[in-house]
Amino acid sequence: MLPTHHRRIVLASRPVGEPVESDFEMEEVPVPEPGPGQVLVRGLYLSLDPYMRGRMRDDASYAPPVEIGGVMTGGAVGQIVASLASEFSVGDIVEGRLGWQEFAVGTAASLRRVDRELAPISTANGILGMPGMTAYCGLFEIGNPKVGETVVVSAASGAVGQVVGQLAKRAGCHVVGIAGGARKCSFVIDELGFDACIDYKMDASPFEQALARACPNGIDVYFDNVGGVVSDAVILQLNVWARIVLCGAISQYNSDEPEMAPRLPAFFVGQRVIMRGFIVSDFAAKFDHVRKIMGALVRDGNLKYREDIVDGLENAPRAFIGLLRGENFGKLQVRVSSEDD
Ligand code: NDP
Repeated sequence: MLPTHHRRIVLASRPVGEPVESDFEMEEVPVPEPGPGQVLVRGLYLSLDPYMRGRMRDDASYAPPVEIGGVMTGGAVGQIVASLASEFSVGDIVEGRLGWQEFAVGTAASLRRVDRELAPISTANGILGMPGMTAYCGLFEIGNPKVGETVVVSAASGAVGQVVGQLAKRAGCHVVGIAGGARKCSFVIDELGFDACIDYKMDASPFEQALARACPNGIDVYFDNVGGVVSDAVILQLNVWARIVLCGAISQYNSDEPEMAPRLPAFFVGQRVIMRGFIVSDFAAKFDHVRKIMGALVRDGNLKYREDIVDGLENAPRAFIGLLRGENFGKLQVRVSSEDD
């Protein structure tokens, strides 16, 4: 029996600086009813992602902000519990933009069927979902790594970074991660097989020296997930003809006045650096193909992944605030409910 009411989390106020829990509000509302061509989906795993901080801001962006009182936006994996759409049956597992809530209505156009034979369904939010597509497309479409080159990736233990480094290793590169703390760095080297990982939380000068030691031939590709002072240090060690894949700048997301790096342009000229930003949806036409390649690698144990799963929708705000502080270890998700509840 389906419940009559469900819980959802709305944006209560726009944060100034770091978000706080009172910027979010839990509501209880009637479970929506699907209309013709629609399905009702029960949320199982809600994906928490850094871009959500941008949606809490009322600024011009590539995507509209969440309105005050609106349900927090987010991708999720869910299970169909009622179907008026010929494409889906009750019990099917799907992925789509279900938001921070227990139930949502969707259509065939807004949902993607998840192949549960390939890997645990939560991977549809991670390595076989948006972060995995980001890693693959950013690395190969922009970074263009070649055998023997050195690839550096920041936020290396996270959802995107862990995939970037493993793919770069498979492409025959020398791979160096950057992560916060010894535990994350050990995981990146010992479990994921990177050649080295530098803890950026050490003092600035030893960080630069440790990076130089780990990259004796300089840096050819920098996959930048963080921006700020970490990226400034990496960029000054780039080789001629280096490529910077501008994926994200999480170190700046809580700042109203993002840091700039005024000394870099002259350096870029001399080094002929190519720097390109991207939004993963730029490569949407390639996702089915990429998912097949990545799915086979995951199924055969050739790509590893780590997920950080928090229980209960009510814990989503705290977990999200922690993501922006580096408290997650792997792809952060919230288990909203269990299958067949
Ligand atoms: P992660 O799973 O990597 O989690 C975020 C990590 O960022 C934290 O664990 C932390 O790792 C690091 N971090 C947090 N605060 C800081 C800080 N102040 N300085 C440096 N590092 C910090 O997240 P994702 O893999 O999902 O995302 C990584 C980046 O990729 C983000 O910038 C995100 O916005 C971007 N992205 C871009 C996409 C695109 O289409 N362009 C699509 C998806 C993601 P640590 O403890 O190691 O510091």
